[in-house]
Amino acid sequence: MNTDTNTLHDWEEVVSAVPEDVAASVARTIQAHSAELAQGFYAVMMADPEAAKFLSHDAVHSRLQPAIQRWMVMLFGGHGSDPVALAALQRQVGDVHARAEIPVGLVSRGMRHLKVRVRELLVPSELDREGLVNAVGYVGGLMDLAFSEMSAAYLRAHEKGARTDETFRLVTAGQNLALERHKQLGALTEWENAVLRALATTAPLDAVPQLRASAFGLWVQHKAPLMFDASNELLTIGEQIQQLDQTLMPLLVSNQASGLGQEGSGVLRDFLASMEEIRFVLNTVFDRLVDMEVGRDVLTQLYNRRFLPTILRRELEMARQHHNPFAVLMIDVDHFKRVNDTHGHEVGDRVLQHISVVLQGQARASDFVFRYGGEEFLAVINEVAPDQAQNVANKIRSRIEESVLTLSEQLSLQVTVSVGVAMHDGHPDYRHLINRADQALYEAKRSGRNRVVMSQA
Ligand code: GH3
Ligand code: MG
Ligand code: MG
Repeated sequence: MNTDTNTLHDWEEVVSAVPEDVAASVARTIQAHSAELAQGFYAVMMADPEAAKFLSHDAVHSRLQPAIQRWMVMLFGGHGSDPVALAALQRQVGDVHARAEIPVGLVSRGMRHLKVRVRELLVPSELDREGLVNAVGYVGGLMDLAFSEMSAAYLRAHEKGARTDETFRLVTAGQNLALERHKQLGALTEWENAVLRALATTAPLDAVPQLRASAFGLWVQHKAPLMFDASNELLTIGEQIQQLDQTLMPLLVSNQASGLGQEGSGVLRDFLASMEEIRFVLNTVFDRLVDMEVGRDVLTQLYNRRFLPTILRRELEMARQHHNPFAVLMIDVDHFKRVNDTHGHEVGDRVLQHISVVLQGQARASDFVFRYGGEEFLAVINEVAPDQAQNVANKIRSRIEESVLTLSEQLSLQVTVSVGVAMHDGHPDYRHLINRADQALYEAKRSGRNRVVMSQA
């Protein structure tokens, strides 16, 4: 997401409106009191019962406070600061809040506190009266801008998450997509047949209901938008329905009365073309949905990575409520490029499928195994102590090493994996957990591959 020009203009305006020496004085005051300011911000947040959710843990405490301190110092960097970097920083903070599900209202309260406190600190500073007025305007302006940029990013991230959740819920609600497609194409054909039958038998055509009011038309209006996320394709279908109901059908009715002449056949052709268009578009949207059916990756049948946020957020929440630790395992195939280079991409794909089967075999029904990237997998292992998590990881590693994939009489393959393990440590941002598992994986690779490394942080 780029900073739009208006926002950049706002940042520049606030910064350039304050004399350089006043900005520098504000920067000095904030730097001198940054620890106290961060502590105050933190205390305001802590006073809220909702905040207990994500602030209860020491790890957050020890990270959040220095982070706020750094943020304040950067925000009031004075004339030398880069507005693009400043705006980007606020968006980053907003994204972190969204992932950690820290409510905007709470952040806003903390910000109000900061504003008031900074003003108090400025009063005894070296600034004269005019300088003080400038400084207060500058502090308020910058903090408002920071907060609005933060909130915009928060809302964008949150909306995206909510949409994914919603699609996930609908798709996994046990809907049978193949059946639904079959039913809707059937309903459409039924309506089409009613029209054609009337035309063939000279039964009254205006007795056929409008397509919009037919079983298919109602489904398009009420249910399809939930399934297909109000896509452009649905708009196309809507336009076709409207054209059929309002233009083509009335033309067919009037032509039917006078016997389908040349003009009538032209209209009939348009009618059939319009039906074909609807069918084509409908198949396209269904195809797309089937690809992500139950969130499965097409090659491996594992969970697709796009559902990782949904699932990790749920697990974080459950771990918080029930105090049950869980682990994230990051698993990467060793020297996989060699498999592709030596035996071709197709064999590479077979190896990935083979590994997926082993992973699924080692995970319990309550665990989640994702295809994280090309030859990288991520497993969420619920309710385990660190040593158990390490055991699971070791078992995965050894099973893969021991299992030989027989591709033909001449060719059998053996591969190994490296695994990084991170235990959930109470940090509310799931990205943090993934990063730790990733660092452990990097360590496993660096220290020789075909091994398990536990994150120590
Ligand atoms: P390392 O031990 O350091 O992980 O080495 P590596 O060769 O496994 O790592 P690298 O990341 O260099 O290479 C990964 C390769 O995986 C590169 C890419 O072509 C291949 N790959 C990614 N996705 C797929 C896939 O879906 N099918 C196949 N066959 N190969 C894939
Ligand atoms: Mg890799
Ligand atoms: Mg690899």
